[in-house]
Amino acid sequence: MRISEIHVYQKDLPVVDGPYTMSTMTLHSIDTTIIRLVSDSGLVGWGEVAPIGPLYQPQHALGARAALAQMAQGLIGQSCLTPLLLRRHMDGLLNGHNYAKAAIDIAIMDLLGKHYKVRVCDLLGGAERERLPGYFATGIGEPDEIARLVRDKVDQGYGRIQIKAGGRDVAIDIAVVRKVREVVGDRVQLVVDTNRGMTAADAMRLSLACREIPFAFEQPCNTMEEVASIRAQIAHPIILDENLENLSEVLRAISMRVCDGFGLKLTRMGGLNAMATIRDICAARSIPHTCEDSWGGDIIAASVVHIGATVEPRLLEAIWTAGIYIEENYDPENGINVDQGHFALPDGPGLGINPEESRIGTRLASYA
Ligand SMILES: [Mg+2]
Repeated sequence: MRISEIHVYQKDLPVVDGPYTMSTMTLHSIDTTIIRLVSDSGLVGWGEVAPIGPLYQPQHALGARAALAQMAQGLIGQSCLTPLLLRRHMDGLLNGHNYAKAAIDIAIMDLLGKHYKVRVCDLLGGAERERLPGYFATGIGEPDEIARLVRDKVDQGYGRIQIKAGGRDVAIDIAVVRKVREVVGDRVQLVVDTNRGMTAADAMRLSLACREIPFAFEQPCNTMEEVASIRAQIAHPIILDENLENLSEVLRAISMRVCDGFGLKLTRMGGLNAMATIRDICAARSIPHTCEDSWGGDIIAASVVHIGATVEPRLLEAIWTAGIYIEENYDPENGINVDQGHFALPDGPGLGINPEESRIGTRLASYA
C-alpha cells in the first residue's frame, strides 16, 4: 500500500466569543491546514496542523504549507505501512519543520488504522481508558470575570483549570489567582500559564505572593535558563510548554532538572509517533504531562485523545483541544466534543472521524 495522492486544504476557524487573549497575542481566528492522504488501495488518511498564529512559537501556518509543498511530491509512492521509515524519508526531504511533518504522520496513522481496522490508540500501544479528563484554559481577564468563568467550568465537570497570566502588571495576575482560589477553593487543580510572558522577577513575585495557594506554574518565563534561575526560589512546581521544541529539548529540560511536568503539543513534537516516544521517556522518569496541541479542529483533537488514552493515568494531567473555542466539527457525527470536562475516545478505525469535504475549507494543492 503506497501513497498515491496528497491534497492540502486551508480553513479559517473563527474563535467563538473571541477574541482569545494570551500574554503575547490576541486571537480572532485560527488558520488551519488539513491534509487528505490517499493510498493506492483507495483508503484515506486525515492530517492537520494549526499553529496558533505567527507569534506563539516559530511555527506558523504559511510555514506549514511551504514545508508540505517542499515534501509532498517526494512522498508520492512511499509505503503507507512503515511510519518510521516515512518519517526518516521526510527528514531526508526537509530539515526540521516537525509541525508540518506531524500532519503527514497523523494522516499515515489514520490510514494505517483503517487498513488494519484498528484504532490509532491501538497502533500506539493500546488505550488505558475510554474517557479522558480535559482541562479548561481561560484567557487573560480581570479577577471577578475569570473567577466567575472558572466557577462555571468547575461546575461543568472540569477537574483542572489553567489561568492565563502575564503581559501586564503582575499585581493584576496576583489578584486573579487569589480571586479564583477564593471562589473555587481546592475543588480543582490550578495551573497559572504566562506563555513565556513574565520576567524572572515578576514570576517570583507572583509565586511568592501566592505561596499559600497550590498551583503549577506553566512556562513562567521565556527561556529554560530564565526558568532555571527562579526554580529554587519560588513556591510552586513548574511545567514547561513552549520551550519543548523537539525531543532534544525535552531531554535537555530533564537533564537540567528545570521542571516538574510538561505541556506536550502534538504537532510541535512531530506527530503521534514522536509523542509516543516522549510518553515513554516521561514514564521512565515519572514526569506528569498533558497531551494537547496549539489549536486546530477535529483531526488534531482526535489525535490528542488517541495519544492521551495510551498514557499511564497517573502521568496524564489532562487533555486539551481547541473544541470549545471552535464553532463546528469537520465530522458532525463523530467529531470530538467535550462532555462534562471529559473527552470520549472515538470508536471507529484510525482516528475514528470522517471529515466532510464541504467542512474542511479550500483545496490549495494536490499532488499525485
Ligand atoms: Mg501552555
